[in-house]
Amino acid sequence: MLSAYLGRGDNARLPRIMGFGLSFWGVRGSIACPSPEYVTFGGNTSCVELHTAEGHLILDAGTGLRELGNRFLTEDVRQASILLTHTHWDHINGFPFFKPAYVRGRRFRIMAGHLPPGGVRNVLSGQMADPTFPVPLETMQAQLEFEDFRCGDSFSLGPDVTVRTAPLNHPNGATGYRIEHDGKSICYVTDTEHVVGKPDQNILGLIEGADLVIYDCTYTDDEFPAHVGWGHSTWQEAVRLCRAASVKRLAIFHHDPDHDDRFMVHVEEQARHIWSPAFVAREKTTLTIE
Ligand SMILES: [Zn+2]
Ligand SMILES: [Zn+2]
Repeated sequence: MLSAYLGRGDNARLPRIMGFGLSFWGVRGSIACPSPEYVTFGGNTSCVELHTAEGHLILDAGTGLRELGNRFLTEDVRQASILLTHTHWDHINGFPFFKPAYVRGRRFRIMAGHLPPGGVRNVLSGQMADPTFPVPLETMQAQLEFEDFRCGDSFSLGPDVTVRTAPLNHPNGATGYRIEHDGKSICYVTDTEHVVGKPDQNILGLIEGADLVIYDCTYTDDEFPAHVGWGHSTWQEAVRLCRAASVKRLAIFHHDPDHDDRFMVHVEEQARHIWSPAFVAREKTTLTIE
């Protein structure tokens, strides 16, 4: 597995993945937090791009989606599927700034599993409405297909791209994903709250034996008791789950906006000390699953 951090402004130089891999475009939870104290790990909210031999798949549409969209224009990428875990602000705020959606001849399929039929279109449309946004969803000229599936469903996005889903424990609901391609698997499990001492069986089933798990590590175990009910988990719980499910690597993800670079370096040191396959996700990092 290759990891390359290229830093801000190096959008055009982010290496293209061969085979199955991913790029982190936004790793933050709750709200974007650009500032000099957040340069190493990044301040954009949740957005992960998966690369497969069959095309592009986007996990969540947080503010990181804006730069991914610019990359799509540069490289003339004309279609992709966007899988949303849920529709809290930090997972959809990048969508109105996804420039390829305004360009005719592009095609994007937007899917979510936590809402009733018609739900995902309604939420994204509501986000672009008077008086909170200047132009409506209809301004987007690309072919947009909105699809609400039932969380727990499995489906394919190509001959060799299989998606399994499972419900997460989060206010208003959220969907965890397992994407399988070329005999490998990446799981995306955010946002979710654990119950202390009771490993989430839905998650254990979803992530069993996965090559990489990206998990909601908003808090530390020390911080968690003061945040019960907010719908998030800890890096220590992530390690416990990944170990129990024989996962190969863990990406600590959905960083709290109050956790600056210094704090996250400390988290990574502690996590790697306990379980060396763990690492903290950094914006503009690219990984290949080998
Ligand atoms: Zn979130
Ligand atoms: Zn959320």
